[in-house]
Amino acid sequence: MILLPCPWCGPRDSDEFGYIGEIGARPDPRTTTPEEWRDYLYMRRNVAGWTTERWYHRMGCRRYLTVERNTISNQVRSATDAAVQVDEP
Ligand SMILES: [Zn+2]
Repeated sequence: MILLPCPWCGPRDSDEFGYIGEIGARPDPRTTTPEEWRDYLYMRRNVAGWTTERWYHRMGCRRYLTVERNTISNQVRSATDAAVQVDEP
């Protein structure tokens, strides 16, 4: 079980959330090559360890969260409002 600390609803089981995916830096569409754009859209790092992800609380507040989670232990370091910009990896 993964327990996600929603900033608005409190700790909730991950079954209440939709997993959107890893967050990566979006390349500038004016200067990126088609290969770089394809990698941004379809390739994932699939990190074994700490990663930053986007989740959607579909059975709660219906808001998007930015979550720092360890993919090995499922320990969550932070969960914040996705509307707030953070430094992306
Ligand atoms: Zn919530």
